[in-house]
Amino acid sequence: MTGQQRIVVLGAGYAGLSAARRLAGKTGDTTITVVDTRVEFVERVRLHQAVAGQSIRRWDLREMLERKGIEFVRARVTDLDPIAKRVRLDGERSIAYDTLVYALGSAADRSSVPGIAEYARSVATPEDVQALPRGPVVVVGAGSTGIELAAELAESHRDSGAAGDDELTTGIQEFATVTLLGSEEPGAWLSALAADHVRATLTRLGVEIRSGVKVAEVLPDGVRLVDGTVVPASAVVWTAGFTVPDLARRAGLDVDGQGRIRTDETLRSLSHPDIYAAGDAALIDGPGDRPLRMACATALPTGSYVGRAILARAHGTEPKPMTFRYQVQCISLGRRDAVIQFLNADDTPATRVLRGRTGAWVKETIVRIAGKAAGLR
Ligand SMILES: Cc1cc2nc3c(=O)[nH]c(=O)nc-3n(C[C@H](O)[C@H](O)[C@H](O)COP(=O)(O)OP(=O)(O)OC[C@H]3O[C@@H](n4cnc5c(N)ncnc54)[C@H](O)[C@@H]3O)c2cc1C
Repeated sequence: MTGQQRIVVLGAGYAGLSAARRLAGKTGDTTITVVDTRVEFVERVRLHQAVAGQSIRRWDLREMLERKGIEFVRARVTDLDPIAKRVRLDGERSIAYDTLVYALGSAADRSSVPGIAEYARSVATPEDVQALPRGPVVVVGAGSTGIELAAELAESHRDSGAAGDDELTTGIQEFATVTLLGSEEPGAWLSALAADHVRATLTRLGVEIRSGVKVAEVLPDGVRLVDGTVVPASAVVWTAGFTVPDLARRAGLDVDGQGRIRTDETLRSLSHPDIYAAGDAALIDGPGDRPLRMACATALPTGSYVGRAILARAHGTEPKPMTFRYQVQCISLGRRDAVIQFLNADDTPATRVLRGRTGAWVKETIVRIAGKAAGLR
């Protein structure tokens, strides 16, 4: 690259970090700045473990990035002006960019039914993670996050209960009541073999599964279903649905109904080509004519691709369009079991499935590799 240019990366999650990592040391005079509200990177894919009381490692973002010659700014991005090419930080100062990477990720959707914002907990972001009170827990949403959380809670409570102290055991067993509510069977989108294993493992861990139900309202002490039934709980954890920041929409970029930036085949904004988008906050065409699903498995390669595309254009070459094929979906079922569903290119389940301890080992290995790809190790 030539001239004093500035690349600004918004968001230091899997997508933003893999873009910055790809650019590091290869941009000549061009400065790279990463902006995030957090000072530490926490592996988001382990947040269900944190809720179950396990300690999760944190990485100092400034140290990680500055080691690679990347500037880190800790600030909340409050506005984006794509005409002046500036981003506003904390509502007071602003920085200019020549090229912007928009990788602000996602958070829990707290608007779908009444009471979520007031009474439900979440595992969507590190800031959401809190210790759960003693008593029954209801997990809403039988997607992969809900399954992983229900299994982790049930297993960790069961393990604590094995300590042998009767009083403690009684308390823990009471605490360990985990109910998983979903409109569909847990793992309904997986192959029958994988879905059966999910159900059998959750059941073995003591999770009560209630499928075919819809929550109408979250209450201070449980949830009310659309049929009027109340399921009591000391804590309700909402895992059904994610939302993205409204920054791009407010800035007038071309976005979808959720606020994700619509991108071309090289992940540039359709309306503002000096803005690239990656990860959960981007709408990216995927195989099978479906947008890529929000996942670490898509955030890393899209972030990395954006880094490569920016470098290619800086060297006067038109980048090849982004291509992506799904390979596996890994769902942990506590620390000793998991389902690894092999996938066809278009995200439909293939026949091959790994389960049990082998599955748990593969899942752990993939989470570590993902951390490495984001530059953590
Ligand atoms: C419990 C759990 C388990 C999961 N397990 C898996 C799994 O096994 N496999 C898988 O593929 N996916 C999994 N996911 C999904 C995966 O974590 C996300 O899809 C992935 O983190 C998206 O990466 P990202 O970089 O786009 O966004 P994020 O990881 O959300 O990062 C966005 C960054 O932007 C920052 N940011 C946001 N707004 C602002 C702002 N206004 N100003 C400054 N900074 C801001 C945030 O602080 C954050 O650091 C899981 C998610 C959860 C919650």
